[in-house]
Amino acid sequence: MNILETIPLSLDPQEIAKKLRLSPRGHRQEMLDQLLLKAREVIRPRAAYRVAYVFEKGEDTVKIGPITFKSRILRVNLDQAGKVFPYVVTLGEEFDRETRALNDMLLKYYLEELANYALGQAQEFLLAHLAQTYALGKPSRMNPGSLPDWPLEQQRNLFALLGPERIKEALGVSLTSSFLMVPVKSVSGIVFQAEKNFKSCQLCPRGNCLGRRAAYDKKLLSTYE
Ligand code: SF4
Repeated sequence: MNILETIPLSLDPQEIAKKLRLSPRGHRQEMLDQLLLKAREVIRPRAAYRVAYVFEKGEDTVKIGPITFKSRILRVNLDQAGKVFPYVVTLGEEFDRETRALNDMLLKYYLEELANYALGQAQEFLLAHLAQTYALGKPSRMNPGSLPDWPLEQQRNLFALLGPERIKEALGVSLTSSFLMVPVKSVSGIVFQAEKNFKSCQLCPRGNCLGRRAAYDKKLLSTYE
């Protein structure tokens, strides 16, 4: 298990205000200052990953190490992949604790949104780290639960591949019986190298998502059939 203990975040005030659509009216600057101060206090991004190898492939299954995953899209994306990198990224327990204790509902809302943005940044940092360390070219990632084809329940398989005790020990992250992670601002996934750079957002029609990384491509899904 490899651990990235310090993941730097770029919390540029103008970029954050734009991302979170902080209204230029009212106490915008005050809220932004308060938000960034709190974020720097409570967000501590870290990551853990391991190297794993792809074995058997079925129609809509793929075996990685000793664990079989069920997802047609993952299986197709791993067509050419031999080596993959299952991972967990978290913003840490302190974020959960401090956010729960906040009485200012507006600050709480913006902090949650900022945390989602920070989780995205932390994952991009991990991708860049893997690309550099393992000469991956342009790595892609998939996260269980981001598409109906690879539902949240598959987090159990991902944790089994990583070793639940090792993830708990390395990052303090565990999985609940409903397959959610604790601390809540955590994300799991698999990084791989594919011919085409893949982003789940290309297959996700959800509107109004601050985390969107690529435009929805209605026709792309048919290439996985
Ligand atoms: S558009 Fe948003 S919800 Fe859909 S996959 Fe991308 S980040 Fe996730």
